[in-house]
Amino acid sequence: MATTRIPAVEGWFTLDDAPSLLGTRCKSCGAYFFPKETFACRNPRCGASELEETPLSRRGKLWSFTDNRYPPPKPYVAPDPFEPYAVAAVELEREKMVVLGQVVRGVGCADLHAGMEMELVLDTLYRDGENDVVTWKWRPAQAAEGRAQ
Ligand SMILES: [Zn+2]
Repeated sequence: MATTRIPAVEGWFTLDDAPSLLGTRCKSCGAYFFPKETFACRNPRCGASELEETPLSRRGKLWSFTDNRYPPPKPYVAPDPFEPYAVAAVELEREKMVVLGQVVRGVGCADLHAGMEMELVLDTLYRDGENDVVTWKWRPAQAAEGRAQ
C-alpha cells in the first residue's frame, strides 16, 4: 500500500532519495542560514535583504553529540514507549554551519565520535493515517554502505 510522505515541517527539506535541507544564502556576502532566513542577512557587516533558497550539503563532520533520555515536550510526538536517542550537531561540508538533528535509531553515543563523517537521511517520525510524517536525521556516512535503513 502506497503511503504518502509528508514533511514534519513544510519547506525545511526536500523529499527525494537524496534529501537535502533547504536553507537560504545571502546573494551579497554568501552567508548561509538554516532554518531559512528570509527577511535580511544576519551578517552584521552585510545586512543585505536579497536571500535565495538553496539546498544545503547532505554531508558533514560530527562536531558534537549527546543523549536525549527524555521524551520531548508537546507538540513533538515521541514514540511510546519512549526510546532514548542521540542528537548530533553536524558541521556541513560546504557551508561550515552546524545543524542539529536526531541520530537514526540503532546508532547511539557509543557509536559516535567527533569528526566522523555524517550524512542526512529522512526517517518517519510518526504515522498519520495514510501518511508517513518524516523529518531529517543524521547517520554515520560509513555505515550507510551495504546496510538498508
Ligand atoms: Zn549577507
